[in-house]
Amino acid sequence: MDSAKEIWERALGELQLQVSRANYTTWLEKSCGISFQKGIFVVGAPNAFVAEWLIKRLHSLIRKTLTQITGTNVDVQFIVHDKEQLQSSSLASASQTDGGTSTKARIDRFNPRYTFSNFIVGDCNRLAYAATVETVENPGHTYNPLFIYSSTGQGKTHLLHAIGHRAVDNGLCVTYTSAEQFTNEFIKAIKQKQVEDFRGKFKNTHLFLFDDMQFIINKKQTLQCFFQIFSELYNNNRQIIITADHHPKDMAPLSDKFKSHLEWGLIASIQPPDLKTRLAILSTKAQEMALAVSDEVLQLLAKRTWGNIRQLEGALIYLTARAKLIRAELTPQIVNMLLTSTTAKKGANLILQTVADYFNLSTEELRGDTRNRKIALARQIAMYLMKEEDNCSFTEIGKLLGNRSHATIIYGHRKIATQITTNPKLHRQILEISEKINPH
Ligand code: ADP
Ligand code: MG
Repeated sequence: MDSAKEIWERALGELQLQVSRANYTTWLEKSCGISFQKGIFVVGAPNAFVAEWLIKRLHSLIRKTLTQITGTNVDVQFIVHDKEQLQSSSLASASQTDGGTSTKARIDRFNPRYTFSNFIVGDCNRLAYAATVETVENPGHTYNPLFIYSSTGQGKTHLLHAIGHRAVDNGLCVTYTSAEQFTNEFIKAIKQKQVEDFRGKFKNTHLFLFDDMQFIINKKQTLQCFFQIFSELYNNNRQIIITADHHPKDMAPLSDKFKSHLEWGLIASIQPPDLKTRLAILSTKAQEMALAVSDEVLQLLAKRTWGNIRQLEGALIYLTARAKLIRAELTPQIVNMLLTSTTAKKGANLILQTVADYFNLSTEELRGDTRNRKIALARQIAMYLMKEEDNCSFTEIGKLLGNRSHATIIYGHRKIATQITTNPKLHRQILEISEKINPH
C-alpha cells in the first residue's frame, strides 16, 4: 500500500482538476497526507482556517476522491499540521526504523522507476540534471558539494536515486539517506552510545546522497553530526549531493559558516515544469503506465494541470479511471466533460449582491467611490470572491465594480488572499458569504 503522503499527492492531482485554480492554490496546495489507518485518512492543513474551510467546502469531494483512489470506503479527518510536532513524532519512532546502511539495503533503496533514462529534461531542470550526471561520472571533482533545491514533487529524489543506480553500475560505493532516516539512525546511535560507529559508516562512500536537508536544520546535534561527516568526506574528495526545499541562504537557522560550506560547489534549482515539459512528462508517464491516451488529450491535460509532477501523474490516472468507469474513450470532449463539475459559474452579480447584503450595504455603494473602511473591505471581498468563486478576469471585475483599474483589482484580490489564512474574522466572514453564494 502506498503511504498517506503518496495517496494524498495523487488525490491532489485529481482535486486540482475539479476545483478552480485559485481555490486549489489557497486551500489545497499546502495540505498533506498525514496517515491512513483503519479506513480513516488524516489530512494536514497549514492552519485552522484552512482546515475549517476544507471541512466545510470540500469534505465530500475529498472523501469521494480518496475512496476512489484507495478502493475502500474512507473517512476523512482534517487536522492542523504542525511541522515541528510531526518531526518530533517521527523521532519517537526512531528505534523502529531499520538502520539500513549495509550495501544491500542501500542498493534496494533505489527505486527502479527513478533512473536518468526516464527523467524528462526541460528548461526547468536542465542544470540540475546535467550536474547530477556529472557528479556520478566525475565524483568529487567538478561540483562538490552539489546542492539541489525545489518545491516538493519536482524530481529531487528521482535524481538522487538515478545517481544511485548509475554509481552502482560504475562500481562506486554510494550512500543514500533521507535527512529523516539520518536523524533516526543518529538518535539510535546516541542511545546505544555508538555515535563514532555511526559516523564511521559513511567514511568509505564515494558518493554521499543526502535528501531533504530541511528536515534537520532545526536539530542542532543532528546538524552538527551531519557537518562533521560532510567535512570529513569533503576533505577526502568524496562527492556530496544534497537536496532541500530552499536555497541555503533561505534556510534561516543555519549558521553563516554552514551556509557558506553548502555554497562551495554548485547550487542548482528545479523550477515547476513549463507547458512543454509537462507535455513530455505526461506522454512518458502514459507510455510507462501503458495508457492509451491521444496526443490531443495529453495537450489538453498539460494545459489544464499546474501542480507538481507527482500530481500530473495523479491527474492522468484519475482521468483514465473515470473514462473507464463510464466506458468512454478518453477524447478531448470527454476530458472537458469530466473536468467541468465544480467550476460552473455562479454569476458575478449574485456575488456582488450577496456581499452587499452581508455588510448591509447597497451594490451602488460597492461600485461607488466611498472609501470608508467597511465599504472598502466589502469591495475587496467582492473582488476576491468574483475571482475565486466565479473565475472572472480582473478586467471583468474592474468593469463590474464601477470601472476600476485592473491594478486596483489585483491589489484588492491579493490583499484578501494573503489575509484570509491569518485573519480569523475575515476568514469567517468570507466563509459565511460563500455559503450564501453556494447554499449547497
Ligand atoms: P521531490 O523529491 O522533488 O519531492 P520526486 O523525485 O519524488 O520529487 O518526484 C515526484 C514524482 O515525479 C516521481 O514519481 C518522479 O518520478 C516524477 N518526476 C519528477 N520529475 C520528473 C521528470 N523530470 N521526469 C519524469 N518524472 C519526474
Ligand atoms: Mg523527495
